[in-house]
Amino acid sequence: MHRILPILFFSMITISAHTQAAEEASTNSETADAETPSSSQWSYTGNTGPEHWSQLHQNYKVCEYGDKQSPINIRATRTLELPELKLNYVSSKLNLTNNGHTIQQAYDQGSYMILGKTRFNLMQFHFHSPSEHTFLGKYRAMVAHLVHEADNGRLAIIAMTMHMGPKPHAILQSLWDKMPTKANQTVVDNKVKFNIIDMMPWDKGYFLYSGSLSEPPCTEGVTWLVLKESIEVSPDQVNKFISMFPTNIRPLQAQNNRFINATH
Ligand SMILES: [Zn+2]
Repeated sequence: MHRILPILFFSMITISAHTQAAEEASTNSETADAETPSSSQWSYTGNTGPEHWSQLHQNYKVCEYGDKQSPINIRATRTLELPELKLNYVSSKLNLTNNGHTIQQAYDQGSYMILGKTRFNLMQFHFHSPSEHTFLGKYRAMVAHLVHEADNGRLAIIAMTMHMGPKPHAILQSLWDKMPTKANQTVVDNKVKFNIIDMMPWDKGYFLYSGSLSEPPCTEGVTWLVLKESIEVSPDQVNKFISMFPTNIRPLQAQNNRFINATH
């Protein structure tokens, strides 16, 4: 009995943590492109910056009044036997859009992640600098947000952070070489194929919490999986992004009464 009980206990917590995060993910009609709506003008600075988002459109009210917003400072509040990430990613052609807020890769269909019993399809990823989420109060140089959407509209985002080191990252460089430099410009190249799994850190330990889109409409019910480990990119690679997007992060939001779960 003594040997069986702890195992049962942990697997029950594991399941409930995932179900909780998944159930808190409310169904919404936004597509995975919801992180970058083009309709209402918003920005990261000035009169249309984060402190004004809720006034820019009636659908943006939750940006100010929500209590499960992102990004937040990551500091694990409980450590659990969370399952390994189940990632089934295939290659995609390069398909980059400069949407005025960031560089976004529309990922080819067929890649997905399994969370609990739900399949979340990888729709797109995009970049921020610095990392939006902080780790014990510190930013990392950059982040890629891998936005996944289930058939029922639920969203799950993997945050893959980047730190600066001497080596340029080869796959990132193949994207940066084709980076669309003008707003609303898209570059598609069938000859450049890559698999996002090859960009990810070997150790896929993660933090798990329930948050929101980190840009208008700030929709809540997003399952965030923030990878603990970061990948190495060069200062030149970070600077190229910053030169085009000097400010593209939302300030930290209150954690309120949310748990931040962490793998061991
Ligand atoms: Zn993002």
